[in-house]
Amino acid sequence: MDILTSCPDCGSLLDIEYEWDKLPVPSSMREFESRWSNRRDPLDFSGVWRFRNLLPFAADKDIVTIGEGQTILQQSPVVGKYVGMNAGGLFLQYEGLNPSGSFKDNGMTAASTHARMVGAKVAACASTGNTSASLAIYASTAQLFRVVVFVGSGKIAYGKLSQALDYHAKTLQVLGDFDDALERVREVAGERGIYLCNSVNPFRLEGQKTIMYRVLESLNWQVPDWIVVPGGNLGNSSAFGKAFTELKALGLIDRIPRLAVINAAGANTLYQLYEQQGVRWDGGMSGDSVVETFFSEMDSENRKASTLASAIEINRPVNLKKCLRALDACDGVVRQVTDQEILDAKAQVGAGGFGCEPASAASVAGAKRLRAEGVIAPSDRVVCILTGHQLKDPDATVAYHSGNTALFEEKLGMRGVKTAEFANSPVVVENNLQKIIEVLER
Ligand SMILES: *Cc1c(COP(=O)(O)O)cnc(C)c1O
Repeated sequence: MDILTSCPDCGSLLDIEYEWDKLPVPSSMREFESRWSNRRDPLDFSGVWRFRNLLPFAADKDIVTIGEGQTILQQSPVVGKYVGMNAGGLFLQYEGLNPSGSFKDNGMTAASTHARMVGAKVAACASTGNTSASLAIYASTAQLFRVVVFVGSGKIAYGKLSQALDYHAKTLQVLGDFDDALERVREVAGERGIYLCNSVNPFRLEGQKTIMYRVLESLNWQVPDWIVVPGGNLGNSSAFGKAFTELKALGLIDRIPRLAVINAAGANTLYQLYEQQGVRWDGGMSGDSVVETFFSEMDSENRKASTLASAIEINRPVNLKKCLRALDACDGVVRQVTDQEILDAKAQVGAGGFGCEPASAASVAGAKRLRAEGVIAPSDRVVCILTGHQLKDPDATVAYHSGNTALFEEKLGMRGVKTAEFANSPVVVENNLQKIIEVLER
């Protein structure tokens, strides 16, 4: 059997379409709530598979779940004030609470399920870190297939690399960046019949749709005004657009929220194409010549993505077309934010009690920017997605807060971060009660 992730003719990614009229679809999203009372069943416990009627590609017996998706939406007054919202208007969807510490588990449970359905023996992915951590945890828990992960040799955060190693995934550090690693893994998968778990895999996006179902559920099934999400390979934004398009077509929601996808300024392919070159979804062949010119210039000028938000340090987002479709469906906008804005926003997220990794804070920095531009109104209800846990990348956090200028310069100065406005520096004190009291009273 051949496992395809892209069309053999045009090379575009595949997409999952259901024949909804032949499937049991609930008449109201409220029906999913009743599954809370049946939480001893692992499928009803899972924050992904609780909604399995809306991603109905697998038989219950094939589903691989490790209890993913127990994530929460919470109002954040601290971050709301920072962004410039009216009281109660800003919500954080904290996907760092997943078993491997990032939203990737929502997708990997679905990809692992499909891998099981097709009897895969080996699964692989390329990763800036979180995808490999997620695939590795599913493989080690399920014990159904072996795993090879390809990471770029540069800036993988240690929190993430340590997970892949600890979960016993075979880990290849390719001498190149993420885009190189992804190209190689796609080749290897094609050559060796290995099951590919990057977000080129359409089943992953099916799982990631459920992040939006949980957001709606937390808001008592009221649709917010904005969803703001960091954009890397654009799997999440694509999945969110698909989720809302399907819910609307099924009559399960009455309107679609607006979508804001936030790039790091150092990895801003989507921003350039969408906001500066005006590329739009046109049914599948989106702006192909503009996009091709853009990428060939990127290659000939040897432009490489560079941001400390390593999870979104990507040159060629593979889900570009699907993301354009999502932006079209959700009246979307794209913005870019600097590493400085990202780290300042991250410190505010932390001050409000939610730790996240740098890439995640791009959503908050982007919301602040859109609020300042007046695109987001102060009275709107805004949901920012916190994609990954704070402990994934503690170096960036410590460097920002540390009064240790050498560390700050080394880690962040090179990335153009000049100030740490919200730094909470550790205080060095002598090992002496009197001195400690003096410091506390200062
Ligand atoms: C993978 C990842 C992203 C990027 O998501 P895409 O779906 O590739 O756009 C953002 N933040 C974190 C923490 C991630 O792990």
